[in-house]
Amino acid sequence: MPQARARIPYLPPRIGGLLDLATNLWWSWSNEARSVFRAIDEPLWHLVRHNPMELLRRVDPARLAARAADPGFLAQFDRVMDAFSRALTSSDTWFQTQQPGLTRPVAYFCAEFGLHSSVPIYSGGLGILAGDHLKAASDLGVPLVGVGLFYTKGYFDQRLRIDGWQEDSDAAFDVGSTPLERLSGHHGDPWLAVVETFGRPVHVAAWRMQVGRVPVYLLDTNLDQNDPSDRGLSGKLYAGGPAMRLRQEWILGVGGVRVLRAAGVDPAAWHANEGHAAFMMVERVRELVAAGRSFGEAGDEVRRTSVFTTHTPVPAGHDRFSVEEVTGCGGDFWNQLGTSAEEAFGLGSQPDDPSPLFHMTAAAIRLSARVNGVAQMHGGVSRALWQGLWPQLPVEDVPIGAVTNGVHLQTWMSAGMRSLLDRHLGEGWHERVDQPGLWEGVLTLDDLELWALRAEMKHGLMSFIREEARRRWAERWKEAAHVVGAGTLLNPDVFTIGFARRFATYKRASLLFSDFDRLRDLLVNPWRPVQIIFAGKAHPEDHPGKEILQQVYSFTRDPQLQGRVAFVEDYDMHLAHRLIQGVDLWLNVPRVPLEACGTSGMKAAFNAVPQLSTLDGWWAEGYMGLNGWAVPPVQPGEDADAADGERLYGLLEEQVVPMFYRRSARGLPMEWLQRMKHALRIAGERFSARRMVQDYVSGYYAPAMRGEATEHARPI
Ligand SMILES: *Cc1c(COP(=O)(O)O)cnc(C)c1O
Repeated sequence: MPQARARIPYLPPRIGGLLDLATNLWWSWSNEARSVFRAIDEPLWHLVRHNPMELLRRVDPARLAARAADPGFLAQFDRVMDAFSRALTSSDTWFQTQQPGLTRPVAYFCAEFGLHSSVPIYSGGLGILAGDHLKAASDLGVPLVGVGLFYTKGYFDQRLRIDGWQEDSDAAFDVGSTPLERLSGHHGDPWLAVVETFGRPVHVAAWRMQVGRVPVYLLDTNLDQNDPSDRGLSGKLYAGGPAMRLRQEWILGVGGVRVLRAAGVDPAAWHANEGHAAFMMVERVRELVAAGRSFGEAGDEVRRTSVFTTHTPVPAGHDRFSVEEVTGCGGDFWNQLGTSAEEAFGLGSQPDDPSPLFHMTAAAIRLSARVNGVAQMHGGVSRALWQGLWPQLPVEDVPIGAVTNGVHLQTWMSAGMRSLLDRHLGEGWHERVDQPGLWEGVLTLDDLELWALRAEMKHGLMSFIREEARRRWAERWKEAAHVVGAGTLLNPDVFTIGFARRFATYKRASLLFSDFDRLRDLLVNPWRPVQIIFAGKAHPEDHPGKEILQQVYSFTRDPQLQGRVAFVEDYDMHLAHRLIQGVDLWLNVPRVPLEACGTSGMKAAFNAVPQLSTLDGWWAEGYMGLNGWAVPPVQPGEDADAADGERLYGLLEEQVVPMFYRRSARGLPMEWLQRMKHALRIAGERFSARRMVQDYVSGYYAPAMRGEATEHARPI
């Protein structure tokens, strides 16, 4: 970590290990490591928004020196360093026990990775899922290597005007406050690989980010050696239209393989997480052809060793490019595949689409023997969507499976909940999460203790919201209405609903407002009041999404709703954390079947927050009656929005809100507490990233690492 070291002015040698800790994102999911950073300077830890590199850069040297001489601190520090070293080096991990002999890694390609809010190279669900995947892989000892793109401008910070219109600011973040380390290439060159695009060589540099045992290579083209128009390729996430996207995906796929080769990484299997990374497979075909194989043989070998996960249930969500663009971008590359141009581009053809486009998903499916969707229902939707590639098969036999997503427990479960479980299930329970029956144990959690914890987490959320509002009021807001809209009138004693996700139209953030009078009656009821907290960004180019956001925002300032609707700006992992722990109910109302999986409800459930959702994505398999509520399915002939809206109000009015306010003699909502416990039990049993990665290993990675062919029919 020479580069990170240089950014830190002073570090006493006795606690020099803090730098190792700060430069491996393992700290972010170790409560104990976080406590060490917090113990250095608690107010500063909060000011730097839990960024240890920033903390070490800014902390008063006298304070560090004092810590290095404080026996209590040193004991804590030594314990963490022991745990850290065990986490990185123990050789009796789940993977090593299950799959002895498989040591070459799986390369995991994804356009974005969301590990922690201090490394802002993610936009939302897909990136955070990928981050949780890496963390769980590290915990399980799966030899994974991540490959992604480095975005100097991250996603964007969200600023809402007083009229609720979202303005996207795109300040570049300071890489010096992240743990990223720039790799150097051969002969000290700043690049590791070169990729031709549009007839120009693009030099590809890489940053390394360490996630427990898992290294991640983030590709960067912002080098003097590159044409100015290529330097911006790693500037911003999902911005700049299809031409930019194609070039980014070309760099990710082709450049990613070459960077791994240059770094001396020799994967046994390759996983494309979403179609953005499909060119990775095409590049490997090219490599094998260059080594003497025929196009057919190369394709077979790539298939046997590739895994592809699709995340998108609607045709329009899948990237596709015109053959002219793809030809222009790749140039001579396409002549190096040992076959005709027609056959080469045929890799990306989609039989149901008469226009000659190159479909990234079709290419990834053709070059992967193992393909999956991200929830059981989404597996079915994907089989129907891609049946055209197997015209001879009935839809149920289309070989696309499903691995339901999960979330990383240590990342998303609050410290308070973990220590409650420590007391109830016994210390070290997280070592026993694979034991059948462990999670049954949460059904006997003490009601008083669980309810006290809920109150504490709710208070935490509301004071966080108030402090954020205070800061923004002081820094940039001009009108007091902002302060109300941001949630300063929220009351921790009131039933609180959370709704936070990307503002895409199908997620229907405004469904709750479809009948204003009915909603108002629900919210301002003096005996059983209800409040709702919204957060989320619209994609910078999603105009309809921005309009819905604006509409929702206008309700936050409507005096008729008495400050019971809040919108908290700048949804990121930090805010997500607070929200999923601090609300009473998680609300999710996507239009069925457009949510491939959805994960925020799982994060809530790991904090014993039940969900109310339409039966889409994970909820179609996760709703078990006692862990929340489901909006019943739309009947044939019904208008989906009207029917779902009507049933949503009905559920809230007749079941959910009354249950929350129904109290025992001790003041406890006994039925509600039952739902909370079942939400936690089912999340623990079935929706952890640990279970997800275990499923990938046994059904997908291990056979791909052994290069096994499948029995599946091949796509045409
Ligand atoms: C979990 C998460 C998401 C994804 O949530 P969905 O339920 O899948 O929409 C998006 N953004 C942030 C910041 C998250 O933490």
